[in-house]
Amino acid sequence: MSGELRDLYQQLIFDHYKAPRNRHPMHGASHEAEGHNPLCGDNVKVYLEIEDGVIRDVAFEGGGCAIATASASLMTEALKGRKVEEVQSLFEEFHHLVTDGEAPGRAELGKLEALAGVREFPARVKCATLAWHTLNAALAGRERPVSTE
Ligand code: ZN
Repeated sequence: MSGELRDLYQQLIFDHYKAPRNRHPMHGASHEAEGHNPLCGDNVKVYLEIEDGVIRDVAFEGGGCAIATASASLMTEALKGRKVEEVQSLFEEFHHLVTDGEAPGRAELGKLEALAGVREFPARVKCATLAWHTLNAALAGRERPVSTE
């Protein structure tokens, strides 16, 4: 990764940490779940409004460290207007990005690529994926909070 690109990604993460997008409670959400990452102390709640298999709206509450908060914020931006059936391949792609860096290229990550640097810090992977695990729990209708541990 070039130094310039790295700087740009760091700015994007910092911006989403300082001013998270879509961070508010959602009343009447069709799906919601809570997730915790005890290792770092990150806590998020994810809300979804799904209609006809499309994510019409998505929001989150909570956060934690810069990576967990920015990842949740970037995730909400990436999900709006997306089909529910596309979520799994997007998550798989993102998971590869933050772990082994070998993205199979089945989904366009866009701004989510800003978190690519996380793979150099294995302890941060759970921070980056917390919102996504919580999203999966919301989609699966699980009642109990998910935990990365
Ligand atoms: Zn964290």
